[in-house]
Amino acid sequence: MEDLGLEKTAVRVEKTHIVTDAFCRTAEPGVYAIGDVAGPPWLAHKASHEGVICVEQIAGLHPHALDTTRIPACTYSHPQVASVGLTEAQARERGHQVKVGKFPFVGNGKAIAMGSTAGLVKVIFDEGSGELLGAHMVGDEVTEMIQGYAIAQTLETTEADLMSAVLPHPTMSEAMHEAVLAAYGRALHI
Ligand SMILES: Cc1cc2nc3c(=O)[nH]c(=O)nc-3n(C[C@H](O)[C@H](O)[C@H](O)COP(=O)(O)OP(=O)(O)OC[C@H]3O[C@@H](n4cnc5c(N)ncnc54)[C@H](O)[C@@H]3O)c2cc1C
Repeated sequence: MEDLGLEKTAVRVEKTHIVTDAFCRTAEPGVYAIGDVAGPPWLAHKASHEGVICVEQIAGLHPHALDTTRIPACTYSHPQVASVGLTEAQARERGHQVKVGKFPFVGNGKAIAMGSTAGLVKVIFDEGSGELLGAHMVGDEVTEMIQGYAIAQTLETTEADLMSAVLPHPTMSEAMHEAVLAAYGRALHI
């Protein structure tokens, strides 16, 4: 961020990143920042999405504001790790009364058939509103599955919507449904 001449502008730099709003605007009119330089999470899909928002904003359209708390994060390790939204600890720190559900892949038929029983799905709901605050998964295929919860969060679905959704059998994704049920003591296969 050195030698860009930012100090001669109203652009604010905080430690490692340029300060922007949810539409990628800096404090200097007409100057935008996206991606890693605009702060965490440092992920390609966040950078790409901000690029679209930024250009739409410049073009005079009305893009949606980016909510960085709803950006999925994946680790392509073995086992895989995937999450979106708040952790249980973060939710409690923010004053939420929470309902937490966990479902292990050992209770999932597809996982047993594939020999992929190591891992689990965990979901965190706001007890009062039923809002899905966060979801976390460890195990095979979870980086492909997290999009389901990301869409659910974007659509502001509640636990009731997620419980009434019918997921296909046999799939690992059934564990996502079971974790929601587990949060309310209604899991079927544990
Ligand atoms: C090893 C590694 C693995 C990663 N894996 C993942 C992953 O699996 N999934 C994921 O979502 N994210 C991953 N990331 C993060 C992801 O790569 C970044 O979040 C993303 O590339 C950010 O995009 P960006 O456009 O902000 O920056 P960049 O992609 O870094 O692009 C910035 C560009 O600006 C150019 N540039 C720099 N300075 C100047 C200058 N002064 N003038 C002109 N051009 C300049 C650079 O050469 C570069 O081409 C990974 C990062 C690393 C390092």
